[in-house]
Amino acid sequence: MRVYLGGVRGSTPAPGPDFVRYGGHTSCVALAHDDGPPQLILDAGTGLRRITSLMDGEPFRGTILLGHLHWDHVHGLPFFDAGFRTGHRVDVLLPAVDGDASSTLARGLSPPHFPISPTELGHGWAFGDLDEGRFHIEGFDVLVREIPHKGGRTLGFRVTDGQHTVAYLSDHFPLAAGAGPDGLGAYHEAALELAGGVNVLLHDAQFLASQFPEVAYLGHSAVEYATGLASAAQARALVLFHHAPDRTDDELDVILKAQCDARLPVTAAVEGTYLALP
Ligand SMILES: [Zn+2]
Ligand SMILES: [Zn+2]
Repeated sequence: MRVYLGGVRGSTPAPGPDFVRYGGHTSCVALAHDDGPPQLILDAGTGLRRITSLMDGEPFRGTILLGHLHWDHVHGLPFFDAGFRTGHRVDVLLPAVDGDASSTLARGLSPPHFPISPTELGHGWAFGDLDEGRFHIEGFDVLVREIPHKGGRTLGFRVTDGQHTVAYLSDHFPLAAGAGPDGLGAYHEAALELAGGVNVLLHDAQFLASQFPEVAYLGHSAVEYATGLASAAQARALVLFHHAPDRTDDELDVILKAQCDARLPVTAAVEGTYLALP
């Protein structure tokens, strides 16, 4: 499979000259079978706009999985041009909360918050609930597990095409599951199952250990937790994801340099690139 990073930023977009190398769009990752167009998309942050450029003028026909419903994971939906071309099909699955999926999404995506509601995205768009479990979606096997975050039910994903496997824990607050060996959060069962032995783990790296405990209330992870989890789960590579909106390119360079002695390859997610799958 091919894995494209449409948006790698957390919380809110980060435009401007200090953010051009790693990118400013919020969370969106698109998966394609080797010779095909993107069919499975994880999260619909503003980076979803970049996925249209991969479609060669064709309509999107596939599924978008929303890990949770914070702004940085849904604001791209109405701006996904390939999802409005003739012949499109966009199935959006989101964490089951209460009521039906489109009304859950509409709490943040409808007047007066936004001019239209999900159902007004038109024909070809469908909304459904997603729960924990194993699913076959768009030709991929997907494991869905609930993970701790803050402010709403949050899901992590493990996706495989039978050849390569990628885990996606974009927003993760492992301290809610216990202190863990370094006081940065537990390597809890759901995280280990999602990340176990994957080719690449994409993980929340919003903060550094040195910023805790002051930032704990925001519900994210430290870079050092992500590297520890990747090692504990025997992931083959770690990609730091969900960069804080004020984390400049130069600061990310420094963070990466500090990881050069890590027990596995560590890189930082770069918007507009394909993941290497070791
Ligand atoms: Zn987020
Ligand atoms: Zn979030």
